[in-house]
Amino acid sequence: MTSEYRCPFDDLLILDFEATCEKDNYDFPPEIVQFSVCVLNTREKIIREDLSFNKFVRPIINPKLTDFCAELTGIDQDSIDKADTFPEVFNQFSAWLEEHNFQAKRYAFVCDSRQDMWRFAQYQFLLNKQPLPTIFRQWVNLGRYYEEDLRKAQVQDTWGPSFIEKMSGFYNIQFEGHAHNAMDECAFLAKVTKRVLDNGNLVTINESLKCIAGPRNVPFNIDPEWKTSFVSSCKVFEAMLPLVSTRTKRYFPDDFYGKCLYCFLPECTGVEHKQYPEYVYEQLKEPSVFAITAGLMRE
Ligand SMILES: [Zn+2]
Repeated sequence: MTSEYRCPFDDLLILDFEATCEKDNYDFPPEIVQFSVCVLNTREKIIREDLSFNKFVRPIINPKLTDFCAELTGIDQDSIDKADTFPEVFNQFSAWLEEHNFQAKRYAFVCDSRQDMWRFAQYQFLLNKQPLPTIFRQWVNLGRYYEEDLRKAQVQDTWGPSFIEKMSGFYNIQFEGHAHNAMDECAFLAKVTKRVLDNGNLVTINESLKCIAGPRNVPFNIDPEWKTSFVSSCKVFEAMLPLVSTRTKRYFPDDFYGKCLYCFLPECTGVEHKQYPEYVYEQLKEPSVFAITAGLMRE
């Protein structure tokens, strides 16, 4: 173990969103209902037990949680009814970042996959008709470190139906709390992130959202059953959402921090859909709720 963590950021902000959902329907407009962040200070090598951000968020399109969603997340309707809407909660989060001086230093978000930023954050800001903030354009996908550690350990895969349970088994770190509660997931992921750093790995940005990516211009045949298939729905969303998530193999903090990794403009927000996928819309047999709700269709 080296004396200092290998990480170009002073703080890692472990982030998790929970969003509205419906069983077996992926053509559903996911609205964020819980927004949680835990802090790992890489200089002190500590998880800041005294510092976190955790808010429920009131959805607008589907203000009532489905039974499926309530059970999955453990969030009750009353907490949601009393909560502020996303733009208000995001303002509170921005104030929290400022209050704790994160903006003055460099920090990076850590998520367990690309879903939080690429799907949930991007979609939420489309609903609010606001550009996706630059801070949500780059993150550490912890799942990639897990996959790499599996490969190094020459283990095929570990026990457990979910990603969290697999990580829990592999790293021997117990998950405490309610599965799919954003705060409990953050607390768990913070421990995994610390373990990855303790093992001497370089932890840095490995995924980002770009305004243009080549593969999206290649038309494909849409699975007619995409609305009930998670994997097929991801392909449709990849084509429809303005920003594309891409793997970032080499990250240079001085040059890349806070910029679009395609055009290198800090003000590139992806509101303008630069690669509009007409072939997707031509193939859709029924209207897509997901696309219509977010204004992703052109006249
Ligand atoms: Zn750009």
